[in-house]
Amino acid sequence: MAEQLKAIKGMNDILPPDSARWEWLEDKVRALMRRYGYLNMRTPIVEPTALFVRGLGEVTDIVEKEMYSFEDSLNGDKLTLRPEGTAGAVRAINEHSFLYEGGKRLYYIGPMFRHERPQKGRYRQFHQVGAEVLGFAGPDVDAELILMTASLWCDLGLSVGEDVQLQLNSLGQPEERQAHREALIAHLEAHAELLDDEAKRRLHSNPLRILDTKNPAMQPVVEAAPKLIDFLGEASLAHFNAVRAVLDAAGLPYEVNPRLVRGMDYYNLTVFEWVTTRLGSQGTVCGGGRYDGLIEQLGGKPNPAVGWGLGMERLLLLLEEVGQLPGPAQPDAFAVVFPGVPLPTVMVALEALRAQGVSVVLNPAGKDGPASPKSQFKKADASGARFALVFGPDEVARGEVAVKPLREGGEQQIRQMVHIAQWAATLLPR
Ligand code: ATP
Ligand code: MG
Repeated sequence: MAEQLKAIKGMNDILPPDSARWEWLEDKVRALMRRYGYLNMRTPIVEPTALFVRGLGEVTDIVEKEMYSFEDSLNGDKLTLRPEGTAGAVRAINEHSFLYEGGKRLYYIGPMFRHERPQKGRYRQFHQVGAEVLGFAGPDVDAELILMTASLWCDLGLSVGEDVQLQLNSLGQPEERQAHREALIAHLEAHAELLDDEAKRRLHSNPLRILDTKNPAMQPVVEAAPKLIDFLGEASLAHFNAVRAVLDAAGLPYEVNPRLVRGMDYYNLTVFEWVTTRLGSQGTVCGGGRYDGLIEQLGGKPNPAVGWGLGMERLLLLLEEVGQLPGPAQPDAFAVVFPGVPLPTVMVALEALRAQGVSVVLNPAGKDGPASPKSQFKKADASGARFALVFGPDEVARGEVAVKPLREGGEQQIRQMVHIAQWAATLLPR
């Protein structure tokens, strides 16, 4: 036997019945986006490496150690599998002058790639839903983006407060961060003996990121650090308070977390995360914020922007944990075909049903012809279908098919084959 090849570690196959959960979640996401007027965008999975180095910042976890980067063997170009969606979205809107006629609300769903240590809730290929609002500076869209995530939790049967909690912060503007940065470096230097190697290395290149550390030993020094929020000027505070006022009015509970800094350099003003305590240390389900400088930084005409990214694997794990996942979809009907019935008669009748929108499944024949009717009935039961459509030789000779309810009990009904499509129409909508 030939050697079997395996998928790459941390990159998962999604097969039935699990794939039904993914489709269900994607349907919920698309319905959400329609309600809020967000339009779909799709960008390449491979981008120039420079896009992420410039966009996310050189001294970030992603750029320093998590990117799948390689050289195009044909022309030597430096390429990277996208680790996140915002940089590519901004590249695309710049490239197509997409904000020329005004701001846009956009979303995407797709795979992202990060070279991390695989564990529950952390993979090397994972999937994000991302929403980006480009070209609007006000706090209204920040609040809208947060409210829509809360609306999605509600659609999915998650309870805000119990299953997921909202954390909010403001990173202010670059000048404000500069003043905070000096105070922060002074504080961290004063406690240099408590810093781990990574923190020491980032002390002068990216001290804010040290606040994002997952090292428990560093928690005390990080907790005592000067808070960015105390360095915010009037305009930044007003923006923050305006976002909070909407969330308060909507009755959405949140916690202001002054240490919430997010993993990318591009953020300013509002940042937020939805966290859960039900998934161990992989507790962030969704995170986002404002990134007013990024469009210009990537060569576009200056324009404000704000967005979020949601980890679909973590969300599905959480939904499983709280028992909110649907079972696999079941067909409406399952065909049971007796020996001697001409296949074209069966298949044409099934096409008529499907043309009505009814889902109907035929048990495929094996090498030695169709399975026995008994085994087909077993398959029909196991499929969860509401009806078996029994094609027996006598019925078919009269132009009829027998309809046997599988779940509601009841008698076998005989239907004219020519009327089967009309019968199907009475099944819909349920
Ligand atoms: P973490 O701190 O857990 O590494 P992050 O800050 O790197 O998360 P973001 O870059 O903000 O994450 O990505 C948005 C969301 O994508 C996260 O909140 C999380 O739900 C999900 N996510 C990020 N990295 C992974 C991964 N390696 N595997 C699965 N989901 C991920
Ligand atoms: Mg990360």
